Amino acid sequence: MTFDLSARLAERRAAHLYRQRPLLESPQGPLAQVDGRELLAFCSNDYLGLANHPEVIRALQDGAARWGVGGGASHLVIGHSGPHHELERALAEFTGRPRALLFSTGYMANLAAVTALVGQGDTVLEDRINHASLLDAGLLSGARFSRYLHNDAESLGKRLEKASGNTLVVTDGVFSMDGDLADLPALCATARSKGAWVMVDDAHGFGPLGAGGGGIVEHFGLGSDDVQVLVGTLGKAFGTAGAFVAGSEELIETLIQFARPYIYTTSQPPAVACATLKSLELLRGERWRREHLERLIAQFRDGAARIGLQLMDSPTPIQPILIGDSARALRLSSLLRERGLLVGAIRPPTVPAGSARLRVTLSAAHSEAQVDRLLDALANAWHQLNTETGADA
Ligand SMILES: *Cc1c(COP(=O)(O)O)cnc(C)c1O
Repeated sequence: MTFDLSARLAERRAAHLYRQRPLLESPQGPLAQVDGRELLAFCSNDYLGLANHPEVIRALQDGAARWGVGGGASHLVIGHSGPHHELERALAEFTGRPRALLFSTGYMANLAAVTALVGQGDTVLEDRINHASLLDAGLLSGARFSRYLHNDAESLGKRLEKASGNTLVVTDGVFSMDGDLADLPALCATARSKGAWVMVDDAHGFGPLGAGGGGIVEHFGLGSDDVQVLVGTLGKAFGTAGAFVAGSEELIETLIQFARPYIYTTSQPPAVACATLKSLELLRGERWRREHLERLIAQFRDGAARIGLQLMDSPTPIQPILIGDSARALRLSSLLRERGLLVGAIRPPTVPAGSARLRVTLSAAHSEAQVDRLLDALANAWHQLNTETGADA
């Protein structure tokens, strides 16, 4: 037996599922230099426009001058430095929880939290369209793993009846490919009635949601009795890198003692923590970013509905246009690119079979005129796609 990688790659190409990496030659921002051409981009997760903010850049530069570059070691050896510690305190205060623990990526924070809390003999219940890192974490944990119907507290309830051991319910806060919100009031009440804990990964909620940018738990007014384990990532609306888990003193100590993805890795560069301290300040304080974003979301939804595009039930900056067929989604994306716009086509296995889509994301850095440009290009490209394929416009 030998590895037949070329057959595997050819198969993927034939299924219109081959992925390519656009080469970015500018900072994040609405006008991006991609593959040698300037494009108006609607696909970044930099929802508040902080990834290239001058004050955040300066905080990173000053941080590097003061602390050097590398983290140097794991947190438990000699890699836990002043800025990491200060950022953990600030994130605990921001989330209204006793403590927060800093990670280098959201993927690792999720692996860490789930595997430290449940194992053999326990149960982990996840929304079926949770982010891949949460599903991987559930599988890796060795706990009994089951997926409930999307956002369905009744389906969760049925699985809770059969659960044994410590039981953890895990959900995205904002679903990353659909943009809809987890129905946390119902899910948390169901979990609580069975003594289960709830873990929410609010990678896309922190920043855009909540009056102070505190995400979905702030949006719904929930506390640590409802959501015991709260995860946020820093590479999206915060505009920097890394992630955190916030919760009780005992939860954080448990992660420090037992979470292998926390223990066996080098700390993030301290200067990145310096940058995040600055972006946290901007994210909380500059309300106009959220307000402007909300106006753009309404403008986009109105315009897209007028074109006859199929949107999803999303109040967030993630505004997918449902296409269905992967080849058609790719074609629409390339028609937009011909018109100078960059919007990614998201295909299986990232989304369920037959639900390929264009994932439009909006940012506070976009202007209303840029959203108008997107809508004009969409109307035009959509018409062409339907003419080409003979479908009803
Ligand atoms: C992006 C994302 C992650 C991973 O975070 P990284 O810091 O990019 O590793 C985890 N969960 C969700 C829901 C995400 O969207």
